[in-house]
Amino acid sequence: MTTPVIRLGSIRTYFGVRYTVVDVQPHTRRDGRLCRLVTWRAACRACGQPFETRRGVFTHRLTQNCRLHLGQRLPAAPTEQQR
Ligand SMILES: [Zn+2]
Repeated sequence: MTTPVIRLGSIRTYFGVRYTVVDVQPHTRRDGRLCRLVTWRAACRACGQPFETRRGVFTHRLTQNCRLHLGQRLPAAPTEQQR
């Protein structure tokens, strides 16, 4: 499977949470490999407040809550799929 192109304005949805790319920065990792640091913006599942989370890629580990509600497990939260 190829990695989908991530650019500004790209939208990914994961279990009902819409993430929009608001920033993409080139980033050199500690091992010297180049990757991209992507800032995603989404609405908190608990309160609806927009928050931003920064990750190298889009993963199911993306935060689904704002800082205030971080770590809260909502009833609708699905079980994580492991590869
Ligand atoms: Zn919240």
